[in-house]
Amino acid sequence: MKVKYLILGAGPAGLTIGNLLKRSAEDSFLVLEKESVPGGLCRSVEVDGSPFDIGGGHFLDVRRPEVNRFLFSFMPETEWNRFERDSRIAVHGTVIGHPIEANIWQLPIEEQVRYLKSVASAGCNTGTAMPDSFIDWIYWKLGERIAEDYMIPYNRKLFSSELDQLGTYWLEKLPSVSFDETLRSCLEKKAYGTQPGHAQFYYPKTFGYGELWRRMGASLGENLHCNCTVRGIDFEKKEVITDNGTITAEKIFVTVPWTSLSVLKGIPEVLTDGIGELKYSSVETRYFEENLDTSAHWIYYPDPDLPFHRILVRSNFCTGSKGYWTETNAERTELFRGEDRDRFHYLNEYAYPLNTKTKPRMISRLLSWTEQRGVIGVGRWGEWEHYNSDVTVAKAMSAVAKIMK
Ligand SMILES: Cc1cc2nc3c(=O)[nH]c(=O)nc-3n(C[C@H](O)[C@H](O)[C@H](O)COP(=O)(O)OP(=O)(O)OC[C@H]3O[C@@H](n4cnc5c(N)ncnc54)[C@H](O)[C@@H]3O)c2cc1C
Repeated sequence: MKVKYLILGAGPAGLTIGNLLKRSAEDSFLVLEKESVPGGLCRSVEVDGSPFDIGGGHFLDVRRPEVNRFLFSFMPETEWNRFERDSRIAVHGTVIGHPIEANIWQLPIEEQVRYLKSVASAGCNTGTAMPDSFIDWIYWKLGERIAEDYMIPYNRKLFSSELDQLGTYWLEKLPSVSFDETLRSCLEKKAYGTQPGHAQFYYPKTFGYGELWRRMGASLGENLHCNCTVRGIDFEKKEVITDNGTITAEKIFVTVPWTSLSVLKGIPEVLTDGIGELKYSSVETRYFEENLDTSAHWIYYPDPDLPFHRILVRSNFCTGSKGYWTETNAERTELFRGEDRDRFHYLNEYAYPLNTKTKPRMISRLLSWTEQRGVIGVGRWGEWEHYNSDVTVAKAMSAVAKIMK
């Protein structure tokens, strides 16, 4: 079989590429997806009569109008509710606003003094050079108290054993609050500083987040092949090896994890070794039917005795629903006990591409080599970046614009 364009994976990246090709009247393409439905990490199922987003808490950021215009062409804006973010942190039994450094003012006054003294003596406020490991950066940026009460235990739960290997080149994902803003927030008793994402967001009125991507998959018709696992790529023949046979293409878009491709022919050993070094973490989501007495959309839990690191209060963003779901690193799911073990749960093997110190050099070498051969890595796994879905769609739009030039 031969097509002009082959797209591996039908998550937001693959669905965007496929739909843009279709809209440009291109019909010689296929999107190959291993699951029975499209959407990737953004899929939803129904649990206890309401949507459950199996990939974790999924909200559409308002910040990229060109992306949202494209997405609203599949699911109009009138079908979405718009929210102001209400996210919180449970520190030593007290629940305060997120980010912690902008909400210390919500703690008792003695605690505020201790936290402020600790932030004041952090390396970034005393003129020490910024370190290049994430753990050292936490102490350098936020001081010992915030590091040890929240940031390190929380991130240890989120990234588990890989935390020690993370670098600092991706920190625009974290809130940016200066020491002046922390001080000002304590004096004025209100949060200062900026949230990096989801300060305002959309969530569907009557569906889960997955409905958007289901519709995008439906619009591809026969160009989308589900239940088709890709095993590998032969770079010399420009051929993709699947469970159902091989397909050749002029251009191949890789949106599946490079590490999920067991056959890579005609690629230098140094690059396959580099792919072997790419790290990722797995996240399990689990449903609890109890209604919580909070108006938060989600809450972060650094407490190492609790298995999960975040809860998503479904009843506060999903109309007519009840309960909440948890996100737990797969290495910690054994900590669920008793009846919690039997609750509905879903394991996402590929959840977070990890920002290890050596990744940027390795991935840029890989992507420039493959691109010269017409194989383009796009999206969270194709580029091995922590992209949210709106950023993924923006990247996929740029990739299509580039080949159409
Ligand atoms: C816990 C969590 C919370 C998140 N919260 C948000 C949020 O609030 N807002 C937001 O915008 N984004 C959020 N994201 C990010 C969002 O999930 C990603 O940006 C988005 O899913 C990336 O799309 P993608 O197509 O690149 O990858 P994916 O969604 O992972 O899609 C990849 C696709 O490839 C398929 N595939 C994999 N291997 C193969 C193979 N060998 N053969 C064939 N098919 C294969 C998979 O089944 C999948 O369908 C969150 C992610 C996580 C893990």
